[in-house]
Amino acid sequence: MNPRLIDLSDEELEHQFQRQGLPYPRIDASGKALFDANGNQPLTDAERADMIQRLEEQFGEIFKILRIDRNDPNSTDTPFRLARMYVNELLDGRFSPAPRITVFPNRRTVDELVISKGIKVMSMCSHHWQPISGECAIGYVPRDKVIGLSKFTRIVEWFSRRGQIQEEMGEQIADFLIELLDPIALGVVIKSKHFCMIARGVEAHESSIMVTSVMRGELATNHVLRNEFLTLISE
Ligand SMILES: [Zn+2]
Repeated sequence: MNPRLIDLSDEELEHQFQRQGLPYPRIDASGKALFDANGNQPLTDAERADMIQRLEEQFGEIFKILRIDRNDPNSTDTPFRLARMYVNELLDGRFSPAPRITVFPNRRTVDELVISKGIKVMSMCSHHWQPISGECAIGYVPRDKVIGLSKFTRIVEWFSRRGQIQEEMGEQIADFLIELLDPIALGVVIKSKHFCMIARGVEAHESSIMVTSVMRGELATNHVLRNEFLTLISE
């Protein structure tokens, strides 16, 4: 059975499209490559400025459609603020290169769980473009390599500042860390509130929290280790 396209990484998707003779990345009307909302294509400063300017013009059109008077002093510059906010903040991880992470040798041969928790997650759901706000916990058992714990913050920031689906965000973070560290075990647990559940829908669920977990290596197979990890991150 063919894998669902939505489950594939950009690289796998590229192969899939090549096999079917379709152009990939997909191209927009002006010839620019398109990626999934949680894909990554770093921009030059000039491209970023151009994107903000074009977006501001289009947001201005949206204000007209919504019949919001731009002479209202609170709305005059809102299209510009929105354009800058989307490109430089909410979608910044989509348009910036991967953070440079220095990897160190595991000289003390640490073979226990190393955990970083309470990592801020501030993202945006691809379905409704509403905030996703929460926390992430990452644990790993190193093999030959370790990184500074603060680096997890930058990795989570890079993957969360895009249009996201929480399940895919966890998988992307795990894939990145497996590639970087080749650890014996890795776990990524994300708990967050989705404002599309709070601000809209038939029933607003202000208190509902979505929890996703990705377990790789020994954390996927060793139940004792998994329980230790889950206990440590819940304390
Ligand atoms: Zn949503």
